[in-house]
Amino acid sequence: MIFYHPDCDLKFSDFGVEIPIVDDRASSVFNELHRIDPTLSYTNLDLIPFITRSDLLLAHNPDFIDRLFGSYAQLEREMLTCYELIDEDGKYHRYNPKNAKKDFTRALDIVLKQVGLTYFSTKAALTSGFSYFLGGGMHHAMSFGGRGFCLVNDIVITLRKLQNENLIKTAWVIDVDAHKGDGTAEITKRDSSIATLSIHMKEGWPLDSGSVRDPWFIPCNVDIGVDVNEESLYLEKLKEGLLQLEENYPNPDVAIVVNGADPFECDELSSTEKLKLTKEQLLLRDKMIYEFLLDRKIPQSYVMAGGYGKRAWEIYTQFLKFVWQSSSKRSEISSR
Ligand SMILES: [Zn+2]
Repeated sequence: MIFYHPDCDLKFSDFGVEIPIVDDRASSVFNELHRIDPTLSYTNLDLIPFITRSDLLLAHNPDFIDRLFGSYAQLEREMLTCYELIDEDGKYHRYNPKNAKKDFTRALDIVLKQVGLTYFSTKAALTSGFSYFLGGGMHHAMSFGGRGFCLVNDIVITLRKLQNENLIKTAWVIDVDAHKGDGTAEITKRDSSIATLSIHMKEGWPLDSGSVRDPWFIPCNVDIGVDVNEESLYLEKLKEGLLQLEENYPNPDVAIVVNGADPFECDELSSTEKLKLTKEQLLLRDKMIYEFLLDRKIPQSYVMAGGYGKRAWEIYTQFLKFVWQSSSKRSEISSR
C-alpha cells in the first residue's frame, strides 16, 4: 500500500527558500511505480484526518505549538530556525521572501497534511501489514521546536495518536537515515512504550559523541554509529541492532521505518558525506528490515525522511519494486 499526493510535497522554492533540494523525488518514485502497476492512484486527501493542536501536543510542548499557531511573525521565526534560514548575525540565509509565491501558513498546512498521511499510512499497515508513505519522517523535530528541516515529529505524533485510539500499545522506530533520529529519541526518552533504533553517521551532524557533557547527545534505545570507512560493516551492525531491539523490547504492535536514502554514496547533501553506501548495500539494508519484520508478523510502515539530489528516488524505487514483486509472489503461492 503506497500513499502519496503531490499536494503534500513541500516545495521550498514556493516559499522563497533557496535550499538546493531536488524536491520531485516522491513524484519520481510514484511515476515509476505507476508504470509497473497502473492501478496505483493518488491518496484521496479527503480521507486524511485533519491534524489538530491536541494531536501536536502528543509530542510537543504547548508553548512551541502556541508559537506555530500564533502571529505570522512567530510562525515565520519558527520556520526560519527549523530550516536554518537565518545566520548567526540574525540575517536571512538562503531565504528571500520577495520570491515567495506562498506564505509560511501554507507550508504549515502541508507539513500537517504530511503528519496526517504518516498517521493514515501507519494505521493502514496495522491491517495490511505493510505501508509506505512517500513523504514524512521528520525525525529531528524536538519536543520544544523544529530542527534540521523537520518542523514537527510526525513519527511520534502518529504512534501516540494510535495509542490513544487503543489501536496499538507498543512500537518500534527503526531509523536508517544517515543522520541520527535525535528528535524522536528526545521526545520518547521517558516513554518505554516506544523503542527507538538509529543507525547513522557516527561523526557529523547531529553530534553523537557519546559524551554526557554534550548537550545534544540524546541516546536512542539502540544507537549504532557507523564510522568513516566502516561501510562494509554496516549490514552486520544493523542486524545486531535489530536483534538487540527485539531482545530488549519484544513483540511491538507496529514498526515505523524512517527510510532515509541519504546514506547513498551519490547523495548530494554535503552533510551526508561521512556515510557512503552503494545502491546494492541500500537494497540489502531495506530487504533486511522488511524480512525481519515480516518474519515476526510486525506491521511495518515506512516514511521517506532524507534523500537529496538527482538519484535519491532510485533508492526508494528499488525497494518498493522488490516489495511489490515479493508480495505478488506470496499471493500467488497462497492462492494455489
Ligand atoms: Zn538525513
